Amino acid sequence: MKKLVIASNNEGKIKEIKRILKELPLEVLSLRDMGIDIDVEEDGLTFEENAKKKSVEIYKELIRRENKDFIVMSDDSGLEVDYLKGEPGVFSARYAGEHGNDKKNNEKLLLNLKGVKEEDRKARFVCQLALINDKNEYRGIRGTVDGYILESEKGDGGFGYDPLFFFKPLNKSFGELTMEEKNKISHRGVALEEAKEVLKELI
Ligand code: IMP
Repeated sequence: MKKLVIASNNEGKIKEIKRILKELPLEVLSLRDMGIDIDVEEDGLTFEENAKKKSVEIYKELIRRENKDFIVMSDDSGLEVDYLKGEPGVFSARYAGEHGNDKKNNEKLLLNLKGVKEEDRKARFVCQLALINDKNEYRGIRGTVDGYILESEKGDGGFGYDPLFFFKPLNKSFGELTMEEKNKISHRGVALEEAKEVLKELI
């Protein structure tokens, strides 16, 4: 069976990917499962640049190790706010400086949108996937979900900007959704559903 090597060691992410792709003839493996210890710097100007860079590095390593029959999948994701001209964008994880400080990132976002009215607080989450197979065939996939930024946090589920991201169709913030509800409509869910079709071409 072909290996699908996910450029991540995040257990939650890997579990979700396995669930969505379960009907495909692929063995889903993390970098740790493959014994690969590469930390690719996310210094691109776009989500696609970052995701592609990760997949290329891992593709090269797998070829160097003479692996055959594999597909690499990397992702990069974040939040784009129209009023802030697409910020925090590729800087989403480190918007307030420190990598992964959700509390500070959310505070900075609220400060930058202080006094901005609801209709100008439009935003979207983006999930960019980069797939490369053993024949060096590349496919990029972009999943998005639209919403707007609340004036204060609502709900304590999810992570990152979830409590500030309001999703009109369900009349809830992402912080108020169960994991199952979120996965159905999220940028990551949308991108992974599309990946199901694209992976069939790359197998
Ligand atoms: P990545 O792990 O490099 O893709 O960085 C993603 C960053 O974007 C996270 O640290 C969050 O700040 C933000 N982000 C991405 N997806 C989500 C989501 O589903 N909910 C909330 N924040 C997200």
